[in-house]
Amino acid sequence: MKRSAAKAQQARSRYAITALFGEFADRTTEQRYRESVEHRLARHLRHVLGVWGALWLAFSLSDYHHFGLGPTYFSLLGCRMAFVALLVACVAWIRRRPGLATHGGLVTTLALLGFTQVFSVYFMSDDDEIRWLAAATVVFLMGVFVFLPNRTVLSATVALYGSIGTLVCVGINISETSALRMGILALMLLMPCIAGGMASYRFEIVRRGEFAALEQAEAEIERRRALESELRRQARTDPLTGASNRRDYEALFAQESRRARRYGRPLSVCVLDVDHFKHVNDTYGHGAGDTALIHVADICRTEMRGADLLGRIGGEEFLLILPETSRDDAVEFAERLRLRLGAATIQTGAHVFQITVTLGVTALTASDQDITDLIHRADGALYAGKDGGRNQVRWA
Ligand code: GH3
Ligand code: MG
Ligand code: MG
Repeated sequence: MKRSAAKAQQARSRYAITALFGEFADRTTEQRYRESVEHRLARHLRHVLGVWGALWLAFSLSDYHHFGLGPTYFSLLGCRMAFVALLVACVAWIRRRPGLATHGGLVTTLALLGFTQVFSVYFMSDDDEIRWLAAATVVFLMGVFVFLPNRTVLSATVALYGSIGTLVCVGINISETSALRMGILALMLLMPCIAGGMASYRFEIVRRGEFAALEQAEAEIERRRALESELRRQARTDPLTGASNRRDYEALFAQESRRARRYGRPLSVCVLDVDHFKHVNDTYGHGAGDTALIHVADICRTEMRGADLLGRIGGEEFLLILPETSRDDAVEFAERLRLRLGAATIQTGAHVFQITVTLGVTALTASDQDITDLIHRADGALYAGKDGGRNQVRWA
């Protein structure tokens, strides 16, 4: 209960969103979020910059209307074309580096430059045109938040620059201004900033909420998948030694024997029993006996090949299935294993002791029905080995 509460608390802090910026407080989460939206946002930004460029050029019509085909018009046209060229270059740059779309620096710089250019037009216009331009600025401000993908805090910075700049420009350039008029204009500029800012802020929070939910769902799926595979592994193996249980080794043997018969390949099995294991338990305790069994399984695993399988038949008796191995090779392997196990020492607590094993080996024959036939035969050889004095390999 305590653990799940701690986990929930951890998830809450990992996905907490700051009230001011509407972004994840945790930097790595924010980074992952940005990377997840980067490509989509980059595509959107490229389209927006394209539309922006087209509109920017189209507004030279209004320049023509206000200034005629004079030097002012041509200098403005030059500025507009330079800005559009910059936008086109940025489209190409964003295509190569989509991260620019989520970083915010580039978009903010472009928007600040755009507003600066609008301000320069204020200084060339008369009173009537300035009023008209101020109205257009209100629309631009909304666009800064709604159409131009950027981090809300940066969009707000740009909008602040646009609004204050417009107020200053109007204050300097319009001949008859009153405090009331300026107040009304400030209100007009404030409205789109508040509406756009809130829309952008809410949108960013909703998108991050979706991202957090998706990541948590994916983590939960991954956790369940791991749990499922662990349960499957536990259902197939003996908990003490990790060796396959009967269901598992029977299934593998069935598969391997089918393959061996079809392709005429050898297949051997080896049965291993610890000698005088009862004595180990009686002398050093049951725990030491368990340690000895784990030790036997570990050594078997280090000696066998990747395709071989270790099973636990019961008690201190193990089974080794050796695909692609003739009986002679299996006997050689069993002998190697016997020597290795006999030479190793086992340490539990204050006790250090050694064990020996007896092994019975046999190979698949045409008359064998299933693994019990081979185990039966190998067991016969094993008991002959026990009768013959233990610590030896016998075959049948
Ligand atoms: P032999 O050389 O003839 O094989 O003699 P043995 O003492 O090894 O054979 P026996 O079958 O008489 O004894 C096997 C012992 O293994 C008895 C049982 O208590 C012990 N045993 C079985 N499973 C486990 C286990 O999981 N852990 C431990 N510690 N002992 C086990
Ligand atoms: Mg034994
Ligand atoms: Mg036994």
